[in-house]
Amino acid sequence: MDLRDSPEDAAFRSEARSWLEENLVGAFAEARGLGRAGNEHEGRETRIGWERKLGAAGWTCLGWPKESGGRGATMSQQVIWNEEYSRADAPARVGVMGEGLIGPTLIAYGTEAQKERFLDPIRKGTELWCQGYSEPDAGSDLANVQTKAVRDGDEWVISGQKVWTSYAQWSDWCFVVARTDPGQLRHKGLSYLLVPMDQAGVEVRPIRQITGTAEFNEVFFDGARTDADLVVGQVNDGWRVALATLAFERGVGLLGEIVHFHKQLDRVLDQAKRNGRSADPVLRQRLAESYVRLFILRLNTLRSLTGVEGPVAPPEASISKLFWASWHRDLGELAMDVLGTEALVADGLPYQLSETQRIFLFSRADTIYGGSNEIQHNVIGERVLGLPPEPKAVPVKAQPAKAASVKAPA
Ligand SMILES: Cc1cc2nc3c(=O)[nH]c(=O)nc-3n(C[C@H](O)[C@H](O)[C@H](O)COP(=O)(O)OP(=O)(O)OC[C@H]3O[C@@H](n4cnc5c(N)ncnc54)[C@H](O)[C@@H]3O)c2cc1C
Repeated sequence: MDLRDSPEDAAFRSEARSWLEENLVGAFAEARGLGRAGNEHEGRETRIGWERKLGAAGWTCLGWPKESGGRGATMSQQVIWNEEYSRADAPARVGVMGEGLIGPTLIAYGTEAQKERFLDPIRKGTELWCQGYSEPDAGSDLANVQTKAVRDGDEWVISGQKVWTSYAQWSDWCFVVARTDPGQLRHKGLSYLLVPMDQAGVEVRPIRQITGTAEFNEVFFDGARTDADLVVGQVNDGWRVALATLAFERGVGLLGEIVHFHKQLDRVLDQAKRNGRSADPVLRQRLAESYVRLFILRLNTLRSLTGVEGPVAPPEASISKLFWASWHRDLGELAMDVLGTEALVADGLPYQLSETQRIFLFSRADTIYGGSNEIQHNVIGERVLGLPPEPKAVPVKAQPAKAASVKAPA
């Protein structure tokens, strides 16, 4: 296997690098590195301008087919773009949910009218999206969604609560999984709706996180409305569409992230050399191990993308998620140990965190979102190792009146 760029890929890399050098100037250059995890609010206006500049020059939605407004870029070109983007430390993208999740879902399952209406604004960076899946009682157990949508003439009326909705406070639209047939249980009777956020029936309440910032929100739908034809896929068959969206999560973007991970590890190494902690034999072992695991992560991610043109399927997707999330969480802990007592003191008042502290605190979320570590283990256990499916709780409505305990469904 030759991991070096082919001549075509080398030319593409050079084009991407030159474009970034020529365009990441002025206010955009000042926004370098802004908006990353734990700092999502930073430089939003500039980053929206940057998203639109990328879109106008054809540097968004690279992997989308040409007929959908993308570049039809190969997987290796998408990887290269993500790597060069991270290497340039370009501002964090504001359009990731549109480009990476709802866009590909619409391309696969949307009607022609939905594609016509929504793809172009995503590509141009003029409409931003959020993902309305999780609820207080439906996270890992997504099939327990309780938000309801009821048909009223030419519209759906939506009521319920979503939670952990990233970027909802800045989004124009939300793709919502809602129950449209209350007579059906679990994953049956759900639909996948596209709901405008700017309306009286939608209230967004940011949740302040341990980083001091609010990446995610509670979203309350109280009689919110959307057009009847804004269901993706068939009514009551939203589960299939919802799973398809999840399959698009991550993938090529991880290679770009790995460039950032390298930069973060380099900072930790520098710090260890400067403050003398590199002499500590245990920390030296952990630093070397961290480097080796990151090396393996890159190779394994490249391997899982080899020959794939589309979402990475389980179990490779689960292995990758499990591996990078655990690596990054461990890096955060290692960084704190390298800082020693300094790690306990904020950079400034009232709660100004250093970059390293922020990485440590936000990385606690890595092993939760996009499917927690435990869920990834379950997927690998069942689909790779052939372990029997884990027992599922019987839904309350389906239990006989005097059922004493939870048992596996028939
Ligand atoms: C930073 C961040 C951003 C997010 N952004 C979004 C977003 O934009 N949109 C959205 O819809 N959601 C989002 N989420 C929600 C995320 O998908 C859920 O947090 C995740 O699915 C876990 O669900 P939960 O929080 O309800 O935890 P629970 O499902 O209640 O799990 C609690 C604990 O129990 C464990 N557990 C649960 N079930 C099992 C099982 N069967 N076997 C073994 N262990 C189990 C879990 O691993 C976890 O440790 C985000 C979360 C975070 C942290």
